[in-house]
Amino acid sequence: MSKPNILIKDGRAHSADDLESVPDLDGFLASNMGDEVRLQNDVDLKVLAIHLPKLSTILIEFPVFADGRGFSLARELRKKYGFRGTLIADGPLIPDQYAFAIQCGFDGVKVDGETYGRQAEIHWFNALNDFGLAYQRGYTFRNGPSVSVFDARATSEAAKISDDPYFGLSAEQALKRAIEDYEGNIVLASSMGIDSAVLLHMVAQIDKNLPIVFLDTGKHFRETLQYRDQLIDQLDLTNFINVTPDSKALEVEDSDGTLFESDPDACCDLRKVRPLAGTIEKYAARITGRKRYQTPDRASMPILERVEGEQAKLNPLAYWTAKDVTGYLRKFNLPVHPLLALGFLSIGCQPCTTRVADGEDERAGRWRNTGKIECGIHFVDGKWVQAPNKSSFEVF
Ligand code: SF4
Repeated sequence: MSKPNILIKDGRAHSADDLESVPDLDGFLASNMGDEVRLQNDVDLKVLAIHLPKLSTILIEFPVFADGRGFSLARELRKKYGFRGTLIADGPLIPDQYAFAIQCGFDGVKVDGETYGRQAEIHWFNALNDFGLAYQRGYTFRNGPSVSVFDARATSEAAKISDDPYFGLSAEQALKRAIEDYEGNIVLASSMGIDSAVLLHMVAQIDKNLPIVFLDTGKHFRETLQYRDQLIDQLDLTNFINVTPDSKALEVEDSDGTLFESDPDACCDLRKVRPLAGTIEKYAARITGRKRYQTPDRASMPILERVEGEQAKLNPLAYWTAKDVTGYLRKFNLPVHPLLALGFLSIGCQPCTTRVADGEDERAGRWRNTGKIECGIHFVDGKWVQAPNKSSFEVF
């Protein structure tokens, strides 16, 4: 059986399954519906010009690795036609050509399984790293596997590089380095939500004894608790900390368990904010699953955020997209949260979480129709406090 094709992006290997059914030019023109096309390297781009604005992905075939016409075609697409979508070199390229391919405007390289088998991920990664930032004249290497060259050219990015000591590291590299840099003083706060398995799996490959904190509010879906147990068990994580609200405070302030109806902010304070105080804040650094694409506030978020006097925040998935998360879960055959299949895209406490309809924001199902949008956990002046507004970040 032949080995599956591989997509190399940002120096990392990914499944190329999504690219296998991209039509050739004739197929694309005949259907007049798709937004992806595979081109031979002798194509006349004038034929395609009027379709370029709607194209998200173009594959350019390289029949043999020494054929340079694909590089010229990529340059022409980027420079002459201003194509801003994803550009993939499709053929038996070798890692030595990888940096040049990126310089020409490619976002990635799709190679067959045999080619990849001879030179696996580390060779591609090293080839990219050897390609120094100073040499790249405006191109900056980012850690997300699906960020286009043109995204990476945001002018503000250059300033961010100097603010982010982990800039350019992959998610796994950032985690590994942070675990070394903050030895024994870093924690992962996990919501056991739909993408939590990604970071838990990465941590399990590096340090199974890293503290993993889960906030057990007493109001979670049964499925979330089962998923939590399954992940901890399957990944063999040995330092799991289940944080619960104070039982006396529960008796006094929410004796019948309905505080969420009358005063959800007070309920979050009782069941989330206070239990976390003293648990997470004692660590010098905290790992989050936040991503740049999620909200405008996060759009320029670095991989490592350091503010004098505050807990450092490591965002290994800062540059990831939802598709990257799905791809990672699939690649490592990780279990998915059982409620995802039922239409829950962001999962919190059961009374405050509803399904999300097609086209709705992924967090639309949280505290629906209440005006509340965050659980309220926010770190200010060294303390976990209620978040004052939307610009805060949610933890759970
Ligand atoms: S999310 Fe809802 S049930 Fe959970 S702590 Fe907040 S108000 Fe209470």
